[in-house]
Amino acid sequence: DKSLVWFRRDLRSFDHAALHHALTLSGQVYCAFIFDRNILDDLPKYDRRVEFIRASLLELDTALRELGGGLIVRHVHAEQAIPELAAELGVDAVFCNHDYEPQAIARDAAVAATLKKAGREFRSYKDQVIFEKDEVLSLAGKPFSVFTPYKNAWLKKLQTELAPAELSAYEVDALNAHFAPLPPAMPAIPTLGELGFEKTNLGELQIPTGMQGGQDLLDDFAERMRNYDSTRDFPAVKGPSYLSVHLRFGTVSIRGLVRRALDAIRMGAGGSGAAVWLSELVWRDFYFMILYQHPHVCESAFKPDYDAIVWESGPHAEEIFRAWCDGRTGYPLVDAAMAQLNQTGYMHNRLRMVTASFLIKDLGIDWRWGERYFAEKLNDFDLSANNGGWQWASSSGCDAQPYFRIFNPLTQSEKFDPDGKFIRRYLPQLAKLSGKHIHAPWRVPAMELQKAGVTLGQNYPHPLLQHDEARARTLQRYAVVKKVT
Ligand code: FAD
Repeated sequence: DKSLVWFRRDLRSFDHAALHHALTLSGQVYCAFIFDRNILDDLPKYDRRVEFIRASLLELDTALRELGGGLIVRHVHAEQAIPELAAELGVDAVFCNHDYEPQAIARDAAVAATLKKAGREFRSYKDQVIFEKDEVLSLAGKPFSVFTPYKNAWLKKLQTELAPAELSAYEVDALNAHFAPLPPAMPAIPTLGELGFEKTNLGELQIPTGMQGGQDLLDDFAERMRNYDSTRDFPAVKGPSYLSVHLRFGTVSIRGLVRRALDAIRMGAGGSGAAVWLSELVWRDFYFMILYQHPHVCESAFKPDYDAIVWESGPHAEEIFRAWCDGRTGYPLVDAAMAQLNQTGYMHNRLRMVTASFLIKDLGIDWRWGERYFAEKLNDFDLSANNGGWQWASSSGCDAQPYFRIFNPLTQSEKFDPDGKFIRRYLPQLAKLSGKHIHAPWRVPAMELQKAGVTLGQNYPHPLLQHDEARARTLQRYAVVKKVT
């Protein structure tokens, strides 16, 4: 019998649950990836992710060819195309890995139903997380909504009950791989132009793509993992792993990453950095679980009372939102962070917290606006983590910071970019200001500004507002939820 493996956010040929099971269970295996028009048609035509995916597909195709197979790539509507392709190839089953986003769940259900009508099977596996859905539950048998007890239960489950099964790789054994030959006259993988997209600066940024790129980043990070806990909060320092885009598109395996972290913890020295990093991977599982258990978070607050908050609206709101998007708030750390996002598609985690807090709790803008902007710009955009991060910052989330905790953008700047090194990298017009002055140019004596070549209102904006006043307004705005916090 024959089967089709449908690749989605798992663009690798090793340690791959669906591929492993298809090769184990069926005589001949085809592989396919669909550039789904349902997703692509709505995207702005400058999108680094499409280029990242395409580059990763070229590598995946080569890897599959070396195993005797190859990748069928089409640019169509996946929901209709997969059952059609299954019919065309005459396969008995379609194999893929679980996706936890509501739209993907609906799409997969539709595909499964169409396949079933034609007597074909749809088989889907856990692959992109360690524990999913209701695998980690409280003693009362309920899904967790607070992170720390979830993490403790997650670690316990990993270490005691299931460690070998959950962490062992899904082998794709070259000797036993029996791929079906590619159909004759198979068109090449579409170019960016054929997909309707422009070339981006992905190459200039030297963001490594594909399995090799993920492996290189992991090897590089392995050296730094021991220091992760002390370096991860400073955006000017190469502290984190930069693996998020690879986790997003599955060019690395989560099981492989967790194994690396556990090995470092076991080796003792430098274990605390690895333990903190492992926690971040647990946050990832946590937010996938939250999204799966509470799909309403896509549109509304996890804590419903927070939907009573009245946000800024009208042309003024649009204007200050635009200023935030473009990095024109007059707060250098916020503006440098937005420049990092706009220029590279990445933003350091500390800065995601700072910019999100600034938009919501200084500018009074609905967190969903910021969430949407990040969704459009982040290379690593993941509905679960992005929504979790935004709801954390707005205090409406499951395990969010309390509503009265409002980041002070100046204190954050002085603490986490003490010499202004990160700010200088993205705001060269402020580069000549001293480390002391760079955080709040409006407080700098005129002479100093002049010496540094900074003219407020000309080459750098006046601040949009004063944080203390904004803070007071926010506390009032959040008064409607005081009773529930
Ligand atoms: P590292 O510090 O090396 O962490 C390793 C991995 O752990 C990350 O790649 C990521 O998969 C996971 N991780 C780390 N922190 C978190 C977290 N808080 N929640 C869930 N997973 C985490 N992460 C995304 O992957 N996609 C998003 O769309 C996203 N949006 C965010 C929005 C906001 C407002 C905030 C505050 C955070 C968001 N994050 C998101 C989480 C985090 O900022 C990024 O995962 C991290 O900055 C990616 O860089 P890295 O791979 O170098 O991370």
